[in-house]
Amino acid sequence: MAPEGNTASTSGPSRRVLLFPLPYQGHINPMLQLAGLLSARGFAITVFHAVFNAPDPSRHPAYDFVPVPDGMSGGSTDMAVKVNVEHIFTVNSSCEAPFRESLAALLEAPGGRDNVACLVADAQLLTLMDVARQQGVPTLALRTGSAACFRNFTAYPMLCHKGYLPAQESQLDEPVAELPPYRVRDLMAIGRSHQEHELMRKLMSRAVEAVRTSSGFILNTFDALETDDLMATRRDVAVPVFDIGPLHKFSPAASSSLLQQDRGCLEWLDAQAPASVLYISFGSLASMRGAADLAESAWGIANSGQPFLWVLRSDLVSGVTQATLPDGFDAATRDRGMIVSWAPQEEVLEHAAVGGFWTHCGWNSTLESVCAGVPMLCRPCFGDQMGNARYIDHVWRAGIALDGELERGKLEAAIRRLMQSKEGQEMRERAQELRRKAAEAISDAGSSSRLNIDQLVNHILSL
Ligand code: UDP
Repeated sequence: MAPEGNTASTSGPSRRVLLFPLPYQGHINPMLQLAGLLSARGFAITVFHAVFNAPDPSRHPAYDFVPVPDGMSGGSTDMAVKVNVEHIFTVNSSCEAPFRESLAALLEAPGGRDNVACLVADAQLLTLMDVARQQGVPTLALRTGSAACFRNFTAYPMLCHKGYLPAQESQLDEPVAELPPYRVRDLMAIGRSHQEHELMRKLMSRAVEAVRTSSGFILNTFDALETDDLMATRRDVAVPVFDIGPLHKFSPAASSSLLQQDRGCLEWLDAQAPASVLYISFGSLASMRGAADLAESAWGIANSGQPFLWVLRSDLVSGVTQATLPDGFDAATRDRGMIVSWAPQEEVLEHAAVGGFWTHCGWNSTLESVCAGVPMLCRPCFGDQMGNARYIDHVWRAGIALDGELERGKLEAAIRRLMQSKEGQEMRERAQELRRKAAEAISDAGSSSRLNIDQLVNHILSL
């Protein structure tokens, strides 16, 4: 993106923005997209990052990278949900002391303190934001989920107080009157035990505190997509809110992929008919519960007769090191399917051959699909994914929720509904309308996200 509007460039050295992403793919991508955007506005960039899931500095030669030891070894992303939530606390506590040291060294270097404008940290890194503030560095919080999801965070104490949470099996379909359009099953929760409930409560309250104690709140969404939720968020947090998404449209994420993307699938897509291919991916962390789910998925896909591109991560099935497709699947789908271990997802979704996306509804995947005008088959797994699916299915009506047990006949019918029916075509049209709105949000100097970026740049310069 070429520099435009207000910039941080002066005749002297650039003001420097420090960034600290949470070390997961879905959090690293938007943070590095934000880096690209701020860099284009003339800021120098320093990315502090955990050693676990470290980004590759050679792909971003213009930025400084500072690895911060996090006490983890290895680079696996094969983590169960609960471990994942606990891991967020571990990253906070393990990185605290080394980050304090690295930041002090940076600030004490010649020109360091004068040039540093602020730290933008993931909202899940409260401890590290506290470290920065103790050293006189202002902080901004980046949330990589939706505005609606953050409302779930701020409402969590009320949801517990009113008895919605911990959720009871018999109440899952009850509407949450205070937080439409959510039902109890759409709320963020990781389980029903007291211990799991407490973990979630702590995670949410720390993120809300991180936002409320910061000098600003950055969200990867855009006004036309979440008008009401953004208005409510502005009321809820007494700090300036900058909805500047979709960030991937300002600077591409391919360069922050932790895994090698198989670009061969783009050539394969070139040979397919327009809007004929179902793209299947469950992001970087979501997993299937067992080999039976994988087999039901495979046969549902095969029996639908639909061409498909499937991202089959080796760790897709929990507890299994190498996901294996059932015998006969290959023969049944020969010439109309391609399987890869990791795809250039943004480009795949933008490809004219892709007509539908079976997704776990991570926020990046949701936003990328919305921006490409691709309707979705929603199979959320954990965290904010259930809430995102609710918006796709019920509010934007640009997709279908695939609830309950994963069963081949049900999946086949859902794929046909999405890809082959009039109803699916109507969903595609609504997705295309969202695509137009996303394009408008970033189209020119007066568009909502660009105005907010201008305000963000001014805000950072004023800190
Ligand atoms: N992604 C990718 N290739 C793939 C699958 C996913 O590059 O084969 C990217 C995708 O474009 C998105 C991110 O990984 O930006 C996943 O983020 P999301 O929030 O959708 O899910 P998470 O991995 O956090 O559950």
